[in-house]
Amino acid sequence: MINIAQPIIGEEEIEAVEKVLKSGMIAQGPKVVEFEKRFAKFCGTKYAVAVNSGTAALHCALYACGVKTGDEVITTPFTFVATANAIIMQGAKPVFVDILPDTFNFDPTRIEEKITKRTKAILPVDLFGQIYDVEAVKKIARKYNLKIIEDACQAHGAEYKNKKAGTFGDIGCFSFYATKNMTTGEGGMIVTNKKGYAELAKRFRHHGQSEKTRYQYFDLGYNYRMTDIAAAIGIEQLRKLDSFNEKRIRNAKILTEGLENIKGLIVPIVKKGYKHVFHQYAVRITDEFKVTRDKLVEYSKSKGIGTAIFYPKPLHLHPHFQKLGYKKGEFPVAEKVSKEILSLPVHPLVSERDIKFIIRTIKGI
Ligand SMILES: *Cc1c(COP(=O)(O)O)cnc(C)c1O
Repeated sequence: MINIAQPIIGEEEIEAVEKVLKSGMIAQGPKVVEFEKRFAKFCGTKYAVAVNSGTAALHCALYACGVKTGDEVITTPFTFVATANAIIMQGAKPVFVDILPDTFNFDPTRIEEKITKRTKAILPVDLFGQIYDVEAVKKIARKYNLKIIEDACQAHGAEYKNKKAGTFGDIGCFSFYATKNMTTGEGGMIVTNKKGYAELAKRFRHHGQSEKTRYQYFDLGYNYRMTDIAAAIGIEQLRKLDSFNEKRIRNAKILTEGLENIKGLIVPIVKKGYKHVFHQYAVRITDEFKVTRDKLVEYSKSKGIGTAIFYPKPLHLHPHFQKLGYKKGEFPVAEKVSKEILSLPVHPLVSERDIKFIIRTIKGI
């Protein structure tokens, strides 16, 4: 079976974890500090704060940017639920904007019409590993004095004009869940150039106490701390991230060359100036394709090819978000794309032979 995702853990990670386990310091400690320093350096930011999930990273970022009860945050309905849930966790409302059919990221030309007096921030997602339309969103944020919190949970190492994902707004958020481009099992990180944001995030992850003055509580906080066990894995994964991403990019290139002229199958685009790190290689299967998307999923499975649908339903079609007043038909592009989208295996353990087999199998239909 060619899996759709697979964590890659080597001897280095195992040895690093063993060292931590034997050190007697297994919760947040020196390895977390080291991981933060290395991650900040990798991204090119002054600060990084490690937490225990990507969701926690988004929650910390929203808190640090001052998002609170009654505020509105503009984001995409075509993302993992954590993006919008983190906004709700801060008592704010996720205000959705429809997506573009080519990048699957939100359409910046539709943002301004959604801005109200309550709008506090814009939360773009670097979906599938390609950074959002930075210039357009920055322009709007500047005009209306809004914060930008970048959900880079799928885009470790992605670039726009040679600058790394997570660094374009006020705060960038990452996840190290098992299937992401790099992993710590579960884990997350925020990156920023502003000292104030980093300090607020550190306080928020530690029950509202500053790290210097313990048992003094300034505000509500949570236990979002990362363990040294996870950080030790993260340090080793970060060393390998570039080589992991190069393999994803190579696999994506071969897939695109093999699949680009099939009727009813639309291959993903890479925008000029952007480095897409292919967390997902997502094609669209339209009505013109020989069989339905569901038939293609079944057929691929019978041939030993794992596929996945990210995401089968945009957020606004779920009861959880319909409670906020969202209705079917409000975001037609996201609704259409969710019926066509299909992720094919692209991760670093997929060999060139596997890729050629995937191409042959799909063409064979
Ligand atoms: C994975 C992911 C998250 C959440 O990360 P967790 O570590 O699972 O909490 C948030 N946003 C996006 C776009 C993601 O892909």
